[in-house]
Order: sequence, then structure tokens, then C-alpha cells
Amino acid sequence: MNTNKFIISLFLVCTMIAAFLPLTTSHAASLEQIVQSVSNDTSSNHAANQSKSLLDRLFDLIFNKILGPVFNIMDKKDNGNSAVVVKPVPSSPNYATSDSSVLRGKVIVLDPGHGGSNPGAVANNSKEAENNLSVSLKLRSLLTQAGAKVIMTRDRDRTVAAEGSSLGQELQARVSIAEKNHANIFVSIHSNSNPNPKIAGVMTFFPSGKANLLAQEVQTQILRQTKATDKGIAPATFYVLRNTSMPSILVEMGFVTNYQEAALLRSNAYRDKIAIGIYDGIVQYFNKS
Ligand SMILES: [Zn+2]
Repeated sequence: MNTNKFIISLFLVCTMIAAFLPLTTSHAASLEQIVQSVSNDTSSNHAANQSKSLLDRLFDLIFNKILGPVFNIMDKKDNGNSAVVVKPVPSSPNYATSDSSVLRGKVIVLDPGHGGSNPGAVANNSKEAENNLSVSLKLRSLLTQAGAKVIMTRDRDRTVAAEGSSLGQELQARVSIAEKNHANIFVSIHSNSNPNPKIAGVMTFFPSGKANLLAQEVQTQILRQTKATDKGIAPATFYVLRNTSMPSILVEMGFVTNYQEAALLRSNAYRDKIAIGIYDGIVQYFNKS
């Protein structure tokens, strides 16, 4: 450590304390930040830092972080070599940071695909209708807690239209629930399948020719939660997307035909992650739209 440099900085610090303390604390770093960053640095134990004394670190902190920003007296090279880094507060790993109050009063129709006599895709001991319903019920409680009015097209293992109805009638029954309730958004939840068992990942569809914001936000947030393969968003002409007048999406949560993803889709923890992801995506959507 350079003794002259230290004496000069000590003098400057005394001058600062006497004359510019309010300026220093408001424009550069608070005492809390100084204590925090020194303790962070000590506990991180990087090999490069271990040889440095506490005095060295304090010197770097005072010189680079307080005097530097206020008087712009340090050259760039010294700043780059600073051993003390004021770390940003880490954001929550689980929820997106947007304001969920936007959900208050919103009418959201959740549509767990299939059910009853129509189990949807079944493979690897994973049944689509069951996965879809489980995630939808979890999503309903998250949305309801945030003040949304949630309407389910089905909340148990059954068809929506009367048993024995045609597929067209079944799908129209789901669309009609969204239309009659003047839903703000319609979210259909499905599990995917493919003859190739290697294929896995999340996809979100939106109606052809319409905006993709809801699909994009939901896809992004599901991936953030699950770290699953991104199969992207795509326009589609599925009945429930084509015939709903409000913004609508169809989420394909994963492939039951992929052994690993089938196991995940059966697990409570993974279903929670998907529900949180869709929830976060919806919050982001209402914040941006
Ligand atoms: Zn399906």
C-alpha cells in the first residue's frame, strides 16, 4: 500500500467529514452500504481478496466509492482494480417483480384441457387431463389471492359440455363460458405429446393474426420458473383461440411422451412452478397492456 496515497486520502476524508458529510452520504455511499460491502467482501473469501488487509479494502472503498464519485479524482485504471464491489440487492428468485395489484377485479377464465371421457394425451403414467386440472387449480388460487375473479371451465374430472357431445360442442362450451362472463383473458392449459420421445419443452400458442404479448409473457415466466426447453410461442387456429374475442392463449406445459418431462408433470413441485410461471406471465401482461 502506498503510504503517501493513504495520508492524502486520510486528509481528504477529514476534510470531507468536516465540510461535505451530507453530500457524501447522499451522493456516494451510506454507512450501511460501506459496512455491507466490506462484510460481503470478507465473507465471499475470493482467493484474490484474501491477501488484502481490511485497511486496504477500507482504503479502496473510501477512495474509489466515496471520494471517486464525488470529486471524480480517481483514474479509470484504479477504479477498475477496486477490490470492493457494492453488490445490488438480489431480486426474489421465485416471483417476478411486477405489481400484482393489476389483477384486482380482472375476470380470468382458466380452461384445463380435456377431462371426463377425454383424458387427452396419456403416456409414461402421465395423464394430460389430470396435469391440466392440477396446474389450473393451483393457478386459480394464486390469481384469486391477488384479487382476480377466476372462472374455471371445469374444476373436476369431467367434460364441459354434456357427456356424449361432439368435440365441437365441447370446445364451444369452453368458449361460451369466456364470452358470457366477458373475460379479460382466456387461458387454456394442456400437456403435449409427440411420437418422438426425445422431444420436450414448453410452447405457448396465441390466435393467428392477433397480438402475442400474453403468450410471450407467459412463456418467458414459465421458462424462468422451470428452466425447461423453450419451444417458443406460435400463432395457431385452435378452436378455443379462434373463437374467443378476448386475448387468449393455449399453454402446452410439456410432453407426456418424454420420460423425464412426464415425471415432472406428475410432480407437485413442478406443477407449482408452472402455475407460478403462468401467474407471473399474466401479471406482467396486465402491467404492460
Ligand atoms: Zn390437450
